[in-house]
Amino acid sequence: MMDTYGVIGDPVEHSLSPPMQRAALQALGIDADYSRFRVREGDVTEALKGARSLGVSGLNVTVPHKQRVAELPIVVNDETADRIGAVNTVDMDRMKGYNTDAAGARRAVEEAGVTIEDSRVVVVGAGGAGRAVAYEFGGDAARIDIANRTASRAADLADELSEEGFEAEGHALEELDSLVPSADLVVNTTSVGMNEDVSPVPKNLLHGDQVVFDVVYTPLETRLLREARSVGARTVDGASMLVHQGAEAFEIWTGREAPVEEMLSALKGEL
Ligand code: NAP
Repeated sequence: MMDTYGVIGDPVEHSLSPPMQRAALQALGIDADYSRFRVREGDVTEALKGARSLGVSGLNVTVPHKQRVAELPIVVNDETADRIGAVNTVDMDRMKGYNTDAAGARRAVEEAGVTIEDSRVVVVGAGGAGRAVAYEFGGDAARIDIANRTASRAADLADELSEEGFEAEGHALEELDSLVPSADLVVNTTSVGMNEDVSPVPKNLLHGDQVVFDVVYTPLETRLLREARSVGARTVDGASMLVHQGAEAFEIWTGREAPVEEMLSALKGEL
């Protein structure tokens, strides 16, 4: 019987997971389909139970359900998803929840030859993506500073990281002036720059000895990345993270190495 995979979210029409995952399935000759399922906020538990009964093999979870799925008693999370408090991938055979955004972010920067170990990292944003990046990089970084529009959210996240034994501090966005110049790696995890030509980090704070990573992938080259490149900084884009979080999910479901090149070209065809 043909396996079925899919993504649940609301809205879900614009999810880029279907073209990416279909390309991966096809490249490896796996006879399976990958569908979009629009699931309303109150229907998540029923949807997951139904999908399990129908024999769905794996699901991605997107906005606004990532946090909700992490709290469901019918899904048992791995440690990373539990810490972050968000699930974006479910292995339906084992009803196990994962957060592959975290590993996706790591794979994206490592692929670009960036070492997180012993570096000074500034994370802008403390939402879902910010939590994934901060937890994933916080353990290896020498220090991680988090700046967020709602400063209390950055402070809360930094407190959690400190409890894990990481060197972390939370800040308001205004403090970027003093944080960014001494950072080795600057990561934007806010939605600022998405579909509009604005940057969350003033250009005059960036310099050529830095790596700048933007998780936003529409547009592919955000203003932040363009300005970073213009001062000679190395850049990592959101498409790279997106493809690697998808690759990680694919590997969890199928146990096979994901065809990253094919997934990336399917993704770029859509962007
Ligand atoms: P989220 O949980 O809603 O968090 C949004 C973050 O952006 C919060 O820190 C929020 O600050 C900040 N923000 C929003 N509007 C702002 C503004 N006008 N000025 C300053 N800060 C602002 O969203 P998310 O799920 O983390 O997603 C954030 C972005 O990451 C989206 O663009 C999403 O597409 C992208 N993303 C990419 C990948 C990938 O694989 N490349 C994966 C996940 C997410 P407050 O706390 O003050 O509201």
